[in-house]
Amino acid sequence: MGAEIPFRESFYLGLPSDFYKAAEPSPPPAPHWVVFNERLARDLGLPQNSDTPDLLNLLSGGAPPDGDNIALAYSGHQFGVWNPLMGDGRAVIVGEVAAPDGRIYDIHLKGSGPTPFARRGDGRATLSAMLREYLVSEAMAGLKIPTTRSLAVTATGAPVFRDGARPGAVLTRVARSHIRVGTFQYAAGRDAAEEQGPVRVRALADAAILRHDPDLAQAEQPYLAFYRAVVARQASLIAQWMLVGFIHGVMNSDNMAVSGETIDFGPCAFMDSFNMRQVYSSIDAAGRYAYKNQPSIAQWNLARLAESFLPLFHDDEATALRVAQEALATFPTLYAQNLAAGLERKLGLRPGDPDNEPVFALLWKTLGETRADFTNFFVRLTEIADGEDAAPDEAWAPFMEAWRAGLEKNCRIEALAAMRAANPKIIARNHRVEQTLAAANDGDLKPFHRLCAALRNPFELAPADADLQAPPKPEEVVHETFCGT
Ligand code: AMP
Ligand code: MG
Repeated sequence: MGAEIPFRESFYLGLPSDFYKAAEPSPPPAPHWVVFNERLARDLGLPQNSDTPDLLNLLSGGAPPDGDNIALAYSGHQFGVWNPLMGDGRAVIVGEVAAPDGRIYDIHLKGSGPTPFARRGDGRATLSAMLREYLVSEAMAGLKIPTTRSLAVTATGAPVFRDGARPGAVLTRVARSHIRVGTFQYAAGRDAAEEQGPVRVRALADAAILRHDPDLAQAEQPYLAFYRAVVARQASLIAQWMLVGFIHGVMNSDNMAVSGETIDFGPCAFMDSFNMRQVYSSIDAAGRYAYKNQPSIAQWNLARLAESFLPLFHDDEATALRVAQEALATFPTLYAQNLAAGLERKLGLRPGDPDNEPVFALLWKTLGETRADFTNFFVRLTEIADGEDAAPDEAWAPFMEAWRAGLEKNCRIEALAAMRAANPKIIARNHRVEQTLAAANDGDLKPFHRLCAALRNPFELAPADADLQAPPKPEEVVHETFCGT
């Protein structure tokens, strides 16, 4: 069994044995397909025909592949609070696949039953939470933002009990790896307890370099070079989130991957009306993970990562600390560069022109004052750059004047091409996501498939799909999102 997918043994099995525990998916009573991502299957070099009981059994956890299936151990700071042992409580890595793009991807079943890390959890997941991850991760991929992907959602045929009985489901997650900041924190914690030197951090760092940055293995200081690469990837990733109004919602250190992929889609959301302080997550009342805090939280997590790396940076503690601080200090600059470059594309401004800064400042200021719809504002601006008349609006007048002056300096064709490629015409609007999931819960998947299809290519929007992108009516606005796990 498991012949459908050419699994390789997971690279985690090459790590010291306390990085994982054997874990078998629990067979569901009555598995059935909900959605299978044929395009992703093709990109991964996997069979695209989901019409086989074998594949259904495999991806629902009924027939795990031969060989070792494992749940990974990790630690993490949850809302700033240290948790020394979390681990995959309800997810199992069933192997990895080598894709035609030359890369290797973890295949991970989420909601496949309790693992040794489950503690009091049931190891299961609701259909709507798994469809939410499927939808939003595929939306991120459509936006060309690094992300874990979703290959399938299968229903288990068994209820899970949250605020009532809900249909249960398993998500097949595909990721460049599941090495989290929290995995390094775990390694460092175990090393500290055993006082044998940084054995586990080194093993994990070597595996991570091999997986993500094999060129760096030859660097003079491979561990420092790798850390710097992680910092650079996060600076780029967070800027990309900010540029589309994405709010992750649970940026705990265990939910940040060293691959630079967006990972762990819980109460995440795209904002409609602009608000620097926007928070959607019901469990983030204090706003730790608000829109505007995402860059500083990323940097905070990267500081925790640096702490885990210290013994690999240098034998001398003071030197190790100094180089770590220097590497971490590159984050704000890299982030600002990524953000500015992205804003230049969104606004059609000449790259690197120092006159752009005041335009950005006016943009943020006016967005904050007007609370304009973030996505549609840039779509409208693109239309205006393309020659459409703009209705005069006093609040926007200073920005428009500065922006037009900047636009004039740029080559028109290049400006328009950049704007069209940087300003999505559709995002996964919260009210649409919620409506879609409610329908799916009642057995109607048509709205889900329709929304997924539209989000696959968000830089185009068919006129027939215009309703999917319309901002919510007052009664439709979603103020709060739930993990709803
Ligand atoms: P998350 O909030 O999804 O990042 O999960 C935090 C931790 O809780 C991880 O260790 C998860 O594996 C674990 N967890 C979440 N839901 C469950 C569940 N239903 N059963 C077991 N463990 C869970
Ligand atoms: Mg998590």
